Amino acid sequence: MRKLFGGIAVTVLVAALAVRAENKPAAKGPNDDGTKPALIKIAGEGMLDSHAFQYLTELSDDVGARVTGSPQAQKAIEWGQAKMRAMGLENVHAEKWQLWRGWTRGTAQADLLTPIHRPLHIDAMGWTGSTPAGGAEGDVVEVNMFDLDNEIKNVSRLAGKVALVVTQGEPKKSFIQLFAQFGDFLRAAGKAGAIAVIGGQGGGKAQGMNLTHTGILGFDADFAVPVVSMTAEDQSQLERYIGRGLTPRVHFNVQNTFSSGPVESANVVGEIRGRENPEQVLVVGGHLDSWDLSEGTTDNGMGSSCALGAADAILRSGMKPRRTIRFVLFTGEEQGLDGSFAYVKQHQAELANHLGSLILDNGQGPVKAFQLGGRDDLVDIFKPFAAALADIRDVNVDDKVEDGTDTLPFSVAGLPGINMNQESPEYKYTHHSAADALEAVKPDVLAQDATLMALAAYWIADRPERFASPWPAEKTVKMLVGQHQDAMLKAFGLWPKAFADIEKREPPSN
Ligand SMILES: [Zn+2]
Repeated sequence: MRKLFGGIAVTVLVAALAVRAENKPAAKGPNDDGTKPALIKIAGEGMLDSHAFQYLTELSDDVGARVTGSPQAQKAIEWGQAKMRAMGLENVHAEKWQLWRGWTRGTAQADLLTPIHRPLHIDAMGWTGSTPAGGAEGDVVEVNMFDLDNEIKNVSRLAGKVALVVTQGEPKKSFIQLFAQFGDFLRAAGKAGAIAVIGGQGGGKAQGMNLTHTGILGFDADFAVPVVSMTAEDQSQLERYIGRGLTPRVHFNVQNTFSSGPVESANVVGEIRGRENPEQVLVVGGHLDSWDLSEGTTDNGMGSSCALGAADAILRSGMKPRRTIRFVLFTGEEQGLDGSFAYVKQHQAELANHLGSLILDNGQGPVKAFQLGGRDDLVDIFKPFAAALADIRDVNVDDKVEDGTDTLPFSVAGLPGINMNQESPEYKYTHHSAADALEAVKPDVLAQDATLMALAAYWIADRPERFASPWPAEKTVKMLVGQHQDAMLKAFGLWPKAFADIEKREPPSN
């Protein structure tokens, strides 16, 4: 656009702008669309009398860790419903769905036997298996994450060994392809009789001092071989020995339990019904499930308490939005976005009436951007709202798809799966680790995040014009390909058959 101003095209530009202005009036923000008085009341409740940190404290200290499918997660589901009822949400209920199988962490102990003797710090990755009772002893050998083709071919060398995943040379595939192939490697290593795999979150080294980070190794993926996260200090020591030509010997005893079949879980749902168009729905939430090395405060007690705090602030303001705001605390996020995929499936018939979803799940920091989940058509519409928040915080707007949380199923459905992205420099330490505790969260930051969530939710639901409708599948396919989401979705079997059919009919062109 800038170069047009240099030449004769100025008149053309002016004419073009005039046409544009005629067809597409500038989007109105809270200053012009009538929503501002309500937003001011909600901001007052949210910033001066927030209940969000109280919710986060209860969830962290009284409920605690809540792995999907566990009795603790069931307690969280009951707690969430009780909170929603007490604050006055309508239609509070749990929406059941089935997790493919359950998993319970047991113990994980490791000892370095040679060249020196000392304990090593490990924790099992979720949905991975056990050593023989009492453990097993073996040599540590390196496995190169960047050359998994070869590692799978030569997997028999891992019999009776502990595999240490390292990254050497240049990767021959994209990160997503490697992560998907890591699952194939783990299955092959288990069959070959490896004792265990030191593999962290897809082979990466643990971040932070003396911390391990648990997590799942795929979407709904379980592995018979024990896979562990080891502290960076201990892992580096093993790497140094191997680098010097020594073969460290270790004893590993890892005990976990799988349930034999599917287990029940549930999303927690409660609504503020719309005053004019109650059938039109904006989903607002975070995920209630967590990992179990600590309290699950930053991942994602933050998102759950933001959603509850936002609901509470709106209710106490006495303001009623035009359309329905449906607060949803998802479960199963940590196993592969299972709760939000289940929601989209269970509400298929109602999706045409959805406006999108608004999710916070990026740690403990202040909100820095609203990412509109692929919907570039909404960026200009959203910007005047973001500008109206300037006295609270500068917040950017873009159309990025966030694939790492419950936004993704909504983006795949062609709806704006809006991610409230945060500035969380310490999240790399608290993420799925023993440091994911209430200690990591500042109450004022949480109150601000919850208020921004309340304001965005209310504005989207209340503005005179409907914010969004789902895109047709053709347009969604194009968008997902454009945002390079198709490779990941295909690698993990999440690319809908309808999308594959569209691609066959209309091969992507530039
Ligand atoms: Zn999370």
